[in-house]
Amino acid sequence: PMAVHQVSRPTGRPTADDFAFVTDRLAPLTPGTALVENVYLSVDPYMREAMDEGHWELGTPLEGRSIGRVLESRDPALAAGDLVFHRYAWRTHAVVRADEVRPLRPHPGIPLSTYLSLLGGTGLTAYVGLTRVLRLQPGESLFVSAAAGGVGSAVGQIARLLGAGRIIGSAGSAAKVRHLTEQLGFDAAFDYHDGPVGDLLRRAAPEGVDSYFDNVGGDHLAGAIEGLKEYGRIAWCGAISQYNSSEPAAAPRNLYEVVYKSLRLEGFLVRNHRDVQGELEDFLVPHLRSGRIVANETVVAGFENVVQAFLGMLDGANLGKMIVQVGDP
Ligand code: NDP
Repeated sequence: PMAVHQVSRPTGRPTADDFAFVTDRLAPLTPGTALVENVYLSVDPYMREAMDEGHWELGTPLEGRSIGRVLESRDPALAAGDLVFHRYAWRTHAVVRADEVRPLRPHPGIPLSTYLSLLGGTGLTAYVGLTRVLRLQPGESLFVSAAAGGVGSAVGQIARLLGAGRIIGSAGSAAKVRHLTEQLGFDAAFDYHDGPVGDLLRRAAPEGVDSYFDNVGGDHLAGAIEGLKEYGRIAWCGAISQYNSSEPAAAPRNLYEVVYKSLRLEGFLVRNHRDVQGELEDFLVPHLRSGRIVANETVVAGFENVVQAFLGMLDGANLGKMIVQVGDP
């Protein structure tokens, strides 16, 4: 069994030197526990913040959402071969308590990795942001940032299924922009390196947008405030443009437009909306089966690549949700 430990606190962008691969000495199985072999690991932007002082302890295995298979169990609730969700990521094996894992019963025909992307926290974040925070109405236009990433590509596709009007995305390369408009059904997209976000958004939506799903913060948030119509809404999901900075960002300089345009800006955390999971699956599984929505994923194979996958995700190496495959599905 192997695990990745964080060995130093990154300043700015983390590097491979902040991590070490170590042999993991697993605790012996006691009643109520089970040995799990990991199959898929999720690497996520929030992990960058957890690497700063006051969060994750140095020299211990890192955490994160994962899917594993039970090898051996000393609890009647779990049997060898069962698939489970748990939080012992960044390692090949884990000893888990039966009461801290969630059994995973895959819908027939749906690939297992989907439970870390569209049918997992990523898809749930998109769905909650659209239906509970933006409360998107049919025909309304939507702008989403980091649109080619896990959450962003789910937002665009789910918004289409909810009957959205014009859907506009921003992403970090020309190839990603093409992916959005040619594969994922976005009406327009732009590379945010090509100019100020406000200008690029105005070109894509001269009449303004009704709603904005923010994954990026900073200049993107300011640009969206500029581009929103009166009574527009913002679902603030994340601020990936700021996770590597040691100083908090200056607020968007145009924040006061929230007042005179009567905008509504609301942040949210997916972990406060776990009750929506059943609704998400009822809604998405038929669309996944019919191909009206695709689980957009970059799956990196091999536990030895988990650190590179995480660092690559921060740099935009991923198209869709970044997932690491460490075992046989
Ligand atoms: P993504 O799959 O979107 O991966 C991160 C992407 O961010 C990269 O692919 C990169 O794409 C983009 N990016 C990196 N740096 C910048 C930058 N400076 N400016 C603009 N884009 C940048 O990750 P997730 O889908 O997992 O997460 C997306 C966002 O949602 C994050 O902010 C995350 O924290 C947030 N989130 C919030 C949750 C909540 O409960 N509120 C739950 C889950 C996620 P590119 O090539 O386009 O730059």
